[in-house]
Amino acid sequence: MVIERFPEKVWLSSPTMHGDEKKYMLEAYETNWMSTVGENINELERLLSGYIGIEHGVALSSGTAALHLAVKLAAERLYGSSSGVSTPDGLGRGGSLYGRRVFCSDMTFDATVNPVVYEGGEPVFIDTEYDTWNMSPEALEQAFVLYPDVKLVIMAHLYGTPGKIEEIRAVCDAHKALLIEDAAESLGATYRGRQTGVFGDYSIISFNGNKIITGSSGGMLLCHSQEDADKARKWSTQSREAAPWYQHEELGYNYRMSNVIAGVVRGQFGYLSEHIGQKKRIYERYREGFKDLPVEMNPFDASASRPNFWLSCLLIDRDAMCESVRSENRFFYKSESGKSCPDEILEALGNLNAEGRPIWKPMHMQPVYRSHGFVTAGGNGRAKTNAYIERTEVPDVGADIFRRGLCLPSDNKMTQKQQDVIIEIVRGCFE
Ligand SMILES: *Cc1c(COP(=O)(O)O)cnc(C)c1O
Repeated sequence: MVIERFPEKVWLSSPTMHGDEKKYMLEAYETNWMSTVGENINELERLLSGYIGIEHGVALSSGTAALHLAVKLAAERLYGSSSGVSTPDGLGRGGSLYGRRVFCSDMTFDATVNPVVYEGGEPVFIDTEYDTWNMSPEALEQAFVLYPDVKLVIMAHLYGTPGKIEEIRAVCDAHKALLIEDAAESLGATYRGRQTGVFGDYSIISFNGNKIITGSSGGMLLCHSQEDADKARKWSTQSREAAPWYQHEELGYNYRMSNVIAGVVRGQFGYLSEHIGQKKRIYERYREGFKDLPVEMNPFDASASRPNFWLSCLLIDRDAMCESVRSENRFFYKSESGKSCPDEILEALGNLNAEGRPIWKPMHMQPVYRSHGFVTAGGNGRAKTNAYIERTEVPDVGADIFRRGLCLPSDNKMTQKQQDVIIEIVRGCFE
């Protein structure tokens, strides 16, 4: 079969607009609410928090900004507002988490963990589990043995598949730690009948351009108390006090969502379940198309969770991996019949004009975080990482999924025909 390159690129996950977005954007324009206040923002906060089933939502400029404020709220609750190195001005230096460790998902986008460092804290990475590709509750339990003083955990629900959030919540409760849920990728996914985003003390969603619904950018902080929501709104608008002039008692940020962007997300919201349905069908067609290949799809526990299927991913069986190596910025593989590897498949997809992506490279493997702690279900993961160099054995779950996995084109505008061609191309890699 001769396969021709797609004339139009098939994306990993691109924005899908419907028309309602334009209506709310234009409303903002025509009523001159071209600002960070307005009806779209209020409505979006009401709609989203209601849908998720949490008391409060605060619309912000990005998921990362939401994570930053979530981290600040948690730190203030745990350590007080004057943590950091105390300075004569009373503002402190070094951030609200100065000198504190925070347990974080390891296999995730770096936006999950960077806000810890913005606040002077030190992320310690918790290994992944094979069941859901999210934070391992066993590894988290181990981490509390190694670092009993830690009081904050940040976990992400990757690719729209809920992690074992109730188990993780239970471990946090047992150690009196607060939990931040990074639901940036998982809007609409449920675990035991409840939406991701309700389990954490604080949670966040992202409306970045490639997420399941988008505002081009944007994010939302979810929290349980009016006091926290008010504080986040205040911090996000430069921390103005109630006074006739610009009065400031604490540091502020410019993190509020624009009313124009809120209009786009407000318009998208009505299509969330349609998008989830489309993504689910994409996942199921891939699963069917690959059922006799030595691969598995990104897994989920069908009895406990309902993913939003944001990205469809593949994991190649260990014994079907062709020889391959990755340096920090290059790869090499040797084509073998009956075998393949992520880089071979990604290259083939690229030649077809379709966009795939490697799995998030684990944080403990990132140069920027190489000196940070890393804990696996077996204990100190760093000791094993060193063994890896000596014995060329894959030492942890995250490194293994990164080595054998990839994200497939998962755009909800991809036609069935295009997906069939993509399936053929992937199958061809194993011939
Ligand atoms: C997209 C994403 C974020 C950040 O969201 P932005 O809106 O891009 O700042 C955080 N965590 C995860 C897991 C994400 O995928």
